[in-house]
Amino acid sequence: MLALAGYPLGLEFTVLEPAEACSAGHLVSWIQAAYDDPEALSALAESADLITYEFENVPQAAVSLLASRRPLFPPPAALDIAQDRLHEKLFFHSHGVPTSPFAEVNTHAQLVEAVQRLGLPAILKTRRLGYDGKGQVRLNEGADLEAAWHDIGGVPSVLEALVLFEKEVSLLAARGRSGETVYYPLVENVHRKGNLRLTLAPGADVEASLQHSAEAYLARVLEALDYVGVLAVEFFVYKGGLLANEMAPRVHNSGHWTIEGAVTSQFENHLRAICGLPLGSPAPTGYAAMVNLIGELPRASLVLALPGVHLHLYAKAQRVSRKLGHITLVAADAAGRDLQLAHLMKIVHGPS
Ligand code: AMP
Repeated sequence: MLALAGYPLGLEFTVLEPAEACSAGHLVSWIQAAYDDPEALSALAESADLITYEFENVPQAAVSLLASRRPLFPPPAALDIAQDRLHEKLFFHSHGVPTSPFAEVNTHAQLVEAVQRLGLPAILKTRRLGYDGKGQVRLNEGADLEAAWHDIGGVPSVLEALVLFEKEVSLLAARGRSGETVYYPLVENVHRKGNLRLTLAPGADVEASLQHSAEAYLARVLEALDYVGVLAVEFFVYKGGLLANEMAPRVHNSGHWTIEGAVTSQFENHLRAICGLPLGSPAPTGYAAMVNLIGELPRASLVLALPGVHLHLYAKAQRVSRKLGHITLVAADAAGRDLQLAHLMKIVHGPS
């Protein structure tokens, strides 16, 4: 999607992707190698004027090596923080961004102590390499803490109080090399089993005050990191305020709607930002919904028969829980969006 946004700007792309298949393989020059393969990293640096990433679990050593060879955005410090849930939460706190109560857990004894302090229900999350609900164990009242510590693999973790949120939202910002910043509207996200299913953009009934607080929180994060590129922060709406859950220093799934639903997509703004070009307007062009296609694909002929609908397939092999594509629909008003979305959901998930 970055490459698709970049070609009209005259940009060319080389992608380092270790998997057997590469979604962008037909569009780009593809280096198939491990993220820490020194020769591949050298070839990538050689082929590029500047480097970005759109996957959070790229090894820090690879990013540092690339950053020593070419300008690399977003800044490696942002990736370093986002790769560790404890550092991320401490970073939010040190910049006045509220989160759910949490505790560091490195041993079974610390887990017992943390549960005494935070209470149950709670969620135990690995500090590193967790995404889309992976590396998490939910602890309900009376949970067997020994089993939970075993299930999480006994690795350094964070215990978080379970937030009975009203809804989940996320804010995307793009910040250019000169510090110029634009904010997209807050969107509402619906997750199932830790996986993003649906984004409504703008979110339904999101008050202007929430948009202002979210922008103020992101401004602190962006400035602290002297950030360049697109940043997403996911929040819980709780008791009318915001609690930050996590940040993604990259283009984000909850911003895919911007391809057809905003004046400038997150992908184009990310490229404009890292290339030092002026940023485009983040204003929505209507009321959008983005539905992720997870594990299986609906019939394209049924999806595309709906007006205002756009289908994106990632050319990935089908696998349970895997994001294989997404659909965006854009309508003139919220009621029109909700009606179209109801039709679309029947096609995607079958009649309920
Ligand atoms: P994460 O991998 O941290 O983004 O978590 C995936 C999803 O699990 C979130 O989008 C929420 O739906 C849910 N979740 C994570 N942490 C919490 C929490 N502390 N309280 C309630 N729900 C949570």
